[in-house]
Amino acid sequence: MPLTLADCIQRDAHAPGQTSWAKAGDGFDPGTPGTLYFDANSIGPMPRTAPLKMQMVLQGGWAQARRRSWNELDWLDQPRTLGAAIAHLIGADTQDVRVTDTTSVNQYKLLRYALRISAPRRVIVLERQVFPSNRYVAEGIARDHLAELRFINDVSDLPEALAPGDVAVVALSHVDYRSSARLDMAGLNQCIRAAGAMSLWDLSHSAGAVAIALRDSHADLAVGCGYKYLCGGPGAPAFMYVHPRWSDAAWPAIAGWMGHADTFAFEADYRPGAGADRFLVGTPAVLANAAFSAAADLWRAVDPVELDQRHCSLTDTLIQLFDEQCAAWPLRLASPRNHAQRGGHVAWQFDGASALAQALVDKGVVVSSRKPDALRWGVHPLTTTHQQLWTAVQVLRQLLESGSWQDPRFARPMV
Ligand SMILES: *Cc1c(COP(=O)(O)O)cnc(C)c1O
Repeated sequence: MPLTLADCIQRDAHAPGQTSWAKAGDGFDPGTPGTLYFDANSIGPMPRTAPLKMQMVLQGGWAQARRRSWNELDWLDQPRTLGAAIAHLIGADTQDVRVTDTTSVNQYKLLRYALRISAPRRVIVLERQVFPSNRYVAEGIARDHLAELRFINDVSDLPEALAPGDVAVVALSHVDYRSSARLDMAGLNQCIRAAGAMSLWDLSHSAGAVAIALRDSHADLAVGCGYKYLCGGPGAPAFMYVHPRWSDAAWPAIAGWMGHADTFAFEADYRPGAGADRFLVGTPAVLANAAFSAAADLWRAVDPVELDQRHCSLTDTLIQLFDEQCAAWPLRLASPRNHAQRGGHVAWQFDGASALAQALVDKGVVVSSRKPDALRWGVHPLTTTHQQLWTAVQVLRQLLESGSWQDPRFARPMV
């Protein structure tokens, strides 16, 4: 029996976390009426309290308290407190996570840190088709003769890449930004550690969507995006994780005053701060952190196991609806069918994905596409409902049936 609208409503009523997160779901701005958002892989929904939090910093902090804010408000602590608020989502201890800078900058900091610790090993292993910024950052380090790069086509080539015994760090995306394929973090960490190398994970497409076990899987280092599933706001600071066994192992690559052991002693020489504090560089982005803190307040109450189960129920439902409603059209599931092997979004291959995505956006179903032919549906476990999925797939089906997605106005490229 194909899934019906009534089934979807039923699934919403019984979804994991429903009682605890009916509240959290209400904690978000619904956006434009009549619009359905499947773009959490690009920018997560806005917590309702974000404008108020920012307004308080602007008025109470900047306009009124001014210089006293540095002492009286929590501005300098936020990289730590925000990190602690999301640590459970990535399976980390609260003191091992910081919210700061961007994913790319943190990637640079931690690649360099791994190279320092692992010297004289100097090889960085990367997947050839990794998210471009991750590759560019590594290329820049190699250009300064600080490392050599070794590319693998996929992780099945990893044992061979590790075999020479010269690998310092293996930098992997936990979830592929196009296909949403999720890697086996525990298994790969074991293989990397056995070869005497370190792991650096990019969690941009998994953090806030599915359960992650950094500590239990013995991951060494991790970074991830703050503005996607974590809902930290446009251009939100990213997060970084350092396993405690490494946190006092070397100087950070960028030694700044916020990472000094005693910032306000204004000592002449640098002394690295304790643990992950040393990876802070300059003054925190106070306004951006105010927006992030609205999301942090919601995340504190979320159980990561229920989050994962709810995301599973939603994305399995989406795949089932595609299978049942859109079988007549050449949409091919590009993501793994098994939730344990998928990240935050679900992707389909479709010849004309960009035009179809734009036609969907035009009808109020906000999805995205990636070259050459991926149609991506970013499902947010705190705000997406099964009923929304039903409605969106009906819109998709109508576009395919009528062929109106082939209108020339949907032919321009889309970000
Ligand atoms: C979105 C994303 C980033 C973001 O990097 P920024 O430096 O924060 O802009 C990094 N890595 C991956 C895999 C991403 O998807």
